[in-house]
Amino acid sequence: MTTDLRFLSFLSIVMFIFQACQGPQKPAMLDRAVLEEAFIEFHEHSITKRRFGYDKIAPLIRNRTKAFQNEILGHSVEGRPVHALTYGEGGVKVLLWSQMHGNESTATMALFDLFNFLEGSDNDPFAELRSTIRQNLLLRFIPMVNPDGAERFQRRNIQHIDLNRDAIRQSSPEGILLREAREAFQPEFGFNLHDQNIYYNAQGTSRPATISVLAPAYNEAREINAVRSKAMKLIVGMNRVLQEEVPGHVGKYNDTFEPRAFGDNFQKWGTSTILIESGGYPDDPEKQYIRKLNFMIILNALYEIAVKRYEHFTEEDYFAIPDNDSKLMDLLIRNLSTEAAGYLYQTDIGIRRSEQYQNDTLFARGNVSDWGDLSVYYGYQELDASGMSLVHGKIWDKEMALADLTESTAWEMLQQGYMAVRIREQDKGKPYDLPLVLYSGDRARNMSPGLDNSADFYLEKAGELQYAVVNGFLIDLKNRSSTPLLQRVE
Ligand SMILES: [Zn+2]
Repeated sequence: MTTDLRFLSFLSIVMFIFQACQGPQKPAMLDRAVLEEAFIEFHEHSITKRRFGYDKIAPLIRNRTKAFQNEILGHSVEGRPVHALTYGEGGVKVLLWSQMHGNESTATMALFDLFNFLEGSDNDPFAELRSTIRQNLLLRFIPMVNPDGAERFQRRNIQHIDLNRDAIRQSSPEGILLREAREAFQPEFGFNLHDQNIYYNAQGTSRPATISVLAPAYNEAREINAVRSKAMKLIVGMNRVLQEEVPGHVGKYNDTFEPRAFGDNFQKWGTSTILIESGGYPDDPEKQYIRKLNFMIILNALYEIAVKRYEHFTEEDYFAIPDNDSKLMDLLIRNLSTEAAGYLYQTDIGIRRSEQYQNDTLFARGNVSDWGDLSVYYGYQELDASGMSLVHGKIWDKEMALADLTESTAWEMLQQGYMAVRIREQDKGKPYDLPLVLYSGDRARNMSPGLDNSADFYLEKAGELQYAVVNGFLIDLKNRSSTPLLQRVE
């Protein structure tokens, strides 16, 4: 035996002992690229926007293959069906429910992507992954717990009840259905799927918490038992995928015990429960990228449950995930000069944009959310306005028809200091994507920005207008940058 070979056999014995000491070998992890390819191959093309009601998903439920068993659990207050879809032949039961808050649909979209994936052919490149899940798990999905809320794209159901505070009181039919679904199925794992607002960041960083995770507490003391521990470990595997895909964009949700909530009670009732909250990501107003992240981490988690890979992770790695913080603004302008009653000072201005729907079209409205020293905040977009002063926009009050306002006229007005234009009453509510504030009616538009007021003003340097902030959107007057969302005539 040569020295090299002796060394190799010595090494293999050492490796064997090392593995033996580690106990059963850790199953292979899923490659992030595989998860991404699965999304590209299988995502549901008929859903492209995050606002939709039951009518959108009804045909997608009806037309599933025999791989799924479809059951109507009951009906919402207004009589819309609440469906459960069941898949798999395995012994480990997993319940996944989405959209108990009607305007939180990001994960719902991902579930329909996942259904397409699970129905895929036994001959495709994902067949082994799919059969590992099918043979080991019994999955039950409730894709839309609150269809009446979804219809109006509102959080609560039509009784005004927050279903996630109705786990115990059981005042709503939807809340009763969800609790009964758990009791009937007795799942070992539960996925509680939500959206959070886009202003959450990973604590201490400017990165949005694009996904936040939580293994909810089951008591006030926030103790860790075997049930909660499994949820924590499963989250560690999901976080691994996310850190590769969107480094730093993960937050850990607050684990204060909420005695009325479903997640906390599921954990208490013995189901290892994982909360996923979809937050924000730059330039993703329809959350289609975040939908993909949901697909990837849920598929990864199902695989890791199927092969028990999560057992190799630690609670410490769960606690190492940064906490959620809420320090983001849509637009943060730092160090601009302004005055109040002749008193000159420097300030930061933080702007957040609320979303409004009209006929299924998404509009934004920018408001000043905070004013003063905002050095502890971050912005999706930030501008250091040192050396610049705030200037009020002028109003063009000769009434115009929206149709007569061309893009070049709009830019000319904006560059000459006219930011608001009065539009005839008939055009009220109409959408536009011009860099102006358009309003109708006789009352002059208030163009003085202030706390909780609309965010419309200019930034000037050495007597020249540099930037315009129109309805909360920053516009570079030199480069004619445009606004990413539609506005409407007010
Ligand atoms: Zn929610």
